[in-house]
Amino acid sequence: MIDIQHLSKTFGTHEVLRDIDFSVNQGEVVTIIGSSGSGKSTLLRCINLLEKPSSGQIIYKGENILEDGHNVYEYRTKLGMVFQQFNLFNNHDVLSNCTVGQIKVLKRSVDEAEKIAIKYLNVVGMDNYINAKPSQLSGGQKQRVAIARALSMEPDVMLFDEPTSALDPEMVGEVLKVMKDLAKSGLTMLVVTHEMGFAKEVSDRVVFMDQGVIAEEGAPEEIFNNPVHDRTREFLKRII
Ligand code: ATP
Ligand code: MG
Repeated sequence: MIDIQHLSKTFGTHEVLRDIDFSVNQGEVVTIIGSSGSGKSTLLRCINLLEKPSSGQIIYKGENILEDGHNVYEYRTKLGMVFQQFNLFNNHDVLSNCTVGQIKVLKRSVDEAEKIAIKYLNVVGMDNYINAKPSQLSGGQKQRVAIARALSMEPDVMLFDEPTSALDPEMVGEVLKVMKDLAKSGLTMLVVTHEMGFAKEVSDRVVFMDQGVIAEEGAPEEIFNNPVHDRTREFLKRII
């Protein structure tokens, strides 16, 4: 579905991503693990073009979307993003958070947008809170609304960047549960996470990043039970 070739990203003289080849297939759940600073967020941000890659190709539906003249705008509507810090619109209520993008970007009518928003708020168990403001919600509830907001755009792929890292421990479970259900439903997902239990249980493939490269990738049982690289082994020893 998304095929990345020779992707590099440099900030000043610091090469943060080096010659990354990586792809996500339709219906696949891929988790990205690795130490702080290894380039996980930068990779996600390059994929959805929040950062401009320094070089390389991103092939989506057979076209390199980094080529001049390509409709980047349309591509970005096909990717849903969930951030560590929720990034909800604090002056909008829950329903409006989930409709504003649909109305402004996808040009859906208010009625249609609300119907779709309620459908996805129901999926994340937040349909009883449509009139609440984000400030009235717990962290776990905010993150579930953020997931519903992204789903309401009906993207082809959902990107998650450490969606549970900012949560109090007792709220991690409810968000992971929603993500597990989404994974089971066949949604294509790319998830940066420190939740190794989730990675083990839910992923089709685990990618281990180290110092700007993909050091190792494979099925969860290979990566967790039988890592090939010393760096993967050291990382897992530290984190598990
Ligand atoms: P973490 O687990 O802490 O979230 P990460 O694997 O997501 O780490 P990135 O945030 O991708 O790592 O950062 C990779 C490297 O790129 C770091 O050294 C970081 O300081 C650097 N970096 C990221 N964004 C920028 C930026 N906008 N300008 C300069 N350097 C940056
Ligand atoms: Mg990060």
